[in-house]
Amino acid sequence: MKNSVLEYCRRTTVHAVVMGILFFCSVLLSTQAVGQEDELELQLDNFLQLAAEDYQQATALLLQLQELDSDSLPVASRVRLYSYLAIHYFDAADKKQSELWLDQALILATTSNDPDGLAEAYATEIEILASSQQFNDAVVKAEQLHQLGLMAVAPRVRYYAHNLLGRVFRDDGQYELALEHFAEALQAVTETEDQRTLPRNMFLNQMIASIHADLKNYSEARALIEQLISDAKASKLQAALPEYYLLYGFIVSYQQQDKLAEQINLQGLAESQRLGQDNLALIFKNNLGAGYIQQGSFAKAREILSDALQQANDMQTPDDAHLIRFNLGYIDVAQGKHQQGLATMQEAIGYFRKNDHKNQLEDTLGWLAKAYGLAGKHEARADTLAEQMALQQQILSTERDKVLHDLQSRYDTKAKAQQISLLKKDNDLTRQLLQNKQLQQKVTLLFIVAILFGALLLLQLMAKVRQANRRLKEANKQLEYQSLRDPLTGLYNRRALQEQMQRRQNYGRRQDDTAPLANGFLLLDIDFFKKINDEYGHAAGDEVLKQLSSRLEVACREQDLVVRWGGEEFLLYLASISPEQVAGFCQRLLKVIGNEPVFYEGKSIPVTASGGFIPLPFAGVSEEELDWERALQIADMALYLSKVNGRNQVYAITGLRCDYADARQALTDDLQGAIKQNMVNYLTIKGPPLAG
Ligand code: GH3
Ligand code: MG
Ligand code: MG
Repeated sequence: MKNSVLEYCRRTTVHAVVMGILFFCSVLLSTQAVGQEDELELQLDNFLQLAAEDYQQATALLLQLQELDSDSLPVASRVRLYSYLAIHYFDAADKKQSELWLDQALILATTSNDPDGLAEAYATEIEILASSQQFNDAVVKAEQLHQLGLMAVAPRVRYYAHNLLGRVFRDDGQYELALEHFAEALQAVTETEDQRTLPRNMFLNQMIASIHADLKNYSEARALIEQLISDAKASKLQAALPEYYLLYGFIVSYQQQDKLAEQINLQGLAESQRLGQDNLALIFKNNLGAGYIQQGSFAKAREILSDALQQANDMQTPDDAHLIRFNLGYIDVAQGKHQQGLATMQEAIGYFRKNDHKNQLEDTLGWLAKAYGLAGKHEARADTLAEQMALQQQILSTERDKVLHDLQSRYDTKAKAQQISLLKKDNDLTRQLLQNKQLQQKVTLLFIVAILFGALLLLQLMAKVRQANRRLKEANKQLEYQSLRDPLTGLYNRRALQEQMQRRQNYGRRQDDTAPLANGFLLLDIDFFKKINDEYGHAAGDEVLKQLSSRLEVACREQDLVVRWGGEEFLLYLASISPEQVAGFCQRLLKVIGNEPVFYEGKSIPVTASGGFIPLPFAGVSEEELDWERALQIADMALYLSKVNGRNQVYAITGLRCDYADARQALTDDLQGAIKQNMVNYLTIKGPPLAG
């Protein structure tokens, strides 16, 4: 399900912060002694203070300060005055005056070479560029200023300039650079000590935490956000608390701590409701709903999402409302109301298609495919996956075009200055070149016309061939899909796993077990499945297999493989898992199976399963000695132990306590004995109580 935190991370863009940055600066008042020449500096501090309280009065003061300007005043203060005037006129949409004052600031700063003045003027120029939709130009200048090195001395100027560069680089996706500048801004803040030091600090730390999350440095991001939450609780600065929770929940759910993520989202929801932040409350509800669906807790998911739908309707945000309805449709399908649920989902998809919400469409198509799988409509599922894939390609290529375009316009900005002087110097040569070019163009044109005639004929022929090829490819694709899939559940079959293992051997094998992440096998077998067939009928048994398959696919990641291994046996092949994640993962899977019964024709059928887990490579033994097939035999033995020792649990065999040579035989012939003789490390993970 869509996670809205990524949107959140990008929401506070540089384009909307002109007065915001001024406001943040307003509290970094100068600490110099008051002399005659510091009068202007003091007045500018007053202006900032006023700007936060009474915008009109502040403007009046700023315009008066123009009168104070004189050559005898310190350069830095005068540059500061001109910069504020430039921003003031920019806000008032008076472009000409704004440019005039900015030029004054730049000229004075560059001729005097005053470090504070230079930083102030350049930063102001970048801020205005970024706010006037010339973001590429802003980035180029920001990079230049970064390379030049900011020599500013005054904490206020350092804070302003570094904070601005941090934001520009963050919006441009240059996270490392952004971090560097936010850290410098933080340093500038710590050199001041007043009642605003903490809020400024928290603001910068929030920026830094969101960048760490973007960079997937989750533990750093988490430590920061936990500190921020406790600071916010201890102080009166609670307005940003819901945003902190949002980021916190996002980080924790990435770390697969579902229970904690749920708690955090609930806290965030309560806080945002208390503070009247409706938009955030809606995001929390969505995140909670998505989490419940992923865990297979459909009743809870339905409850929170219905509430969210009500809110989205009240707030009249149709995009949200459609996404929520889509998710509710998925729940219907998962609970056996196939037709109704699919219709709801298709209607929402129609809306995204009509409104050209490509990313949303791409995401939801993946879920629609899963729903088709759940409803046993495998042809529709294959078609939907194909559409999703085509859309992915399209999105990728538009993004690529945009990156190219950005690079081009940045290159243009840099090249422009050079080009102009070259053109001036070498006008004649240029003209000559142009004439040559025109001649060349005429020849080229004739050539092209001739070629086009030939090409037209060729194209017609090729179109026919291509059409035939396409049909063939289509048929082949269908065949390939079928040969690797199980027809009942749509899951991968044994052959698909064998191919994957072959690929793994060729390219992707983990080299040794000192690497933190191994592959892993979890073999699952439904408990007392014969009884389910006997009690509810074979068709109900089939439905259980289908619904569980789909739940397993939802609970796993894209890069994992979910295989129907035998009648009611499933094999999960995990692309990467660390030793600390094993227990949590197995627990999640048992819950996904056992938490909610399977619904079929008005009956609810409780289901549990037993499993055996083993990492690959296992216990540092080379795969020449212990290959994937042998690892699977051990997982099968572990599954057997789960069965004989009570079912609804997983035995995870995690390592060896003796040489492999000594344990080799026992691992596959008498695992119970090996455990008794203390030869292996293992965990047992219990499933939830039987659902009614
Ligand atoms: P346990 O694993 O807990 O020991 O008990 P069980 O009842 O699940 O044991 P067993 O593995 O012997 O039974 C598996 C049953 O699954 C036997 C077979 O009829 C049934 N089965 C296998 N494939 C399918 C299928 O595709 N559809 C249905 N409905 N039943 C199937
Ligand atoms: Mg079986
Ligand atoms: Mg069984």
